[in-house]
Amino acid sequence: MVSPQSKAVYIDLHVHTRRYSACAETLDPGKLAQYLTDSHLDGIVLAEHDALWPAKEIATLNTELNGKRFFRAVEVSSVNGHFVVIGLDNLNGITPGITIAELTARSAQQGAVVILVHHHQIYSHTADPIAVLQLPPGIDAIETASSVTFGKHQRQAERYAGQRLWSRVGGSDAHYLELVGCSFSVFESMPRNEKEMARAIRQGRVRAMHWYPMDE
Ligand SMILES: [Zn+2]
Ligand SMILES: [Zn+2]
Repeated sequence: MVSPQSKAVYIDLHVHTRRYSACAETLDPGKLAQYLTDSHLDGIVLAEHDALWPAKEIATLNTELNGKRFFRAVEVSSVNGHFVVIGLDNLNGITPGITIAELTARSAQQGAVVILVHHHQIYSHTADPIAVLQLPPGIDAIETASSVTFGKHQRQAERYAGQRLWSRVGGSDAHYLELVGCSFSVFESMPRNEKEMARAIRQGRVRAMHWYPMDE
């Protein structure tokens, strides 16, 4: 018999909702619990733009679930690109327009993990872009699979992961419900909380996956 511990755990690390991300206006967080229950995913990380869900609200969302889980994170609009940070207890000193050097320092203080996301859009979104190979130390991972990162961008992200010794993670970057889970991260077991998830990512105990083949 296969023990429950041997089952891989699928977690989408990058989901926006209209609750705290205005650009995700159709993604109603009230529908996410049912969606998660019915999906292939075991967990969803709510990573809103420059906002962190209150821990209490995440706990309330989790009361509706049976074994599956919601987690919280933030997608920080730094001047040097967008980064999903997992494991923060608060956003003290972390505001839009922060530099990546300050973001990594503040994240490290809280035991949080810093993930470069949609690296290929760094130039269009960013006031003061830094080439991926020039980004300062302190970044732990790169999103190699997402709804916008596939094909040649995925291969490029995987090369950067090798060059920078970064972990590879997946998250949908969904702004509407149907996209949630299209890309996700595979863990060995369900993290008990965001800090444990951050540790697993930092240590490379994670893989990135698309749920269905993506076009080039
Ligand atoms: Zn972004
Ligand atoms: Zn995003």
